[in-house]
Amino acid sequence: MEDQNIIKQAISRVGDLIYEDIKQFCDNYEFSKKEKRCIDHVYKGVIREYKRLYPEVFWIYPPEYRKIRKEILARDKNICQLCGNFGNYVHHIDYNKHNSNGTNLITVCRDCNTKANYKRNFYMKYFRNVLRERGLVK
Ligand SMILES: [Zn+2]
Repeated sequence: MEDQNIIKQAISRVGDLIYEDIKQFCDNYEFSKKEKRCIDHVYKGVIREYKRLYPEVFWIYPPEYRKIRKEILARDKNICQLCGNFGNYVHHIDYNKHNSNGTNLITVCRDCNTKANYKRNFYMKYFRNVLRERGLVK
């Protein structure tokens, strides 16, 4: 069971790294929108292949996450806690997808969810502070 979790985390991390690499690659070389779409397509293809080869391993979100996800969106009234627009993404503040504690989850919009993939230390502090100010964590 423990091995399974280690594999899951490793694959999830590999997925994140591939994604970050592709993003940085796109930012460094000014690709056109069309080229970016192609690159995104390739990335999704890689992930799809991973899922096909390791279906049970690739399920990176633990089952309890599905339930608490809805509670977090309700708690935050579907408001992105970064920009204030409508949000329906639940972000893991410590970037650990296995930590489904309510104090580690926060509602964001799609754009801010992408944004929070960078400057991780900054956003970790930022979101913790948001929850602190709302009195949701000590
Ligand atoms: Zn936002």
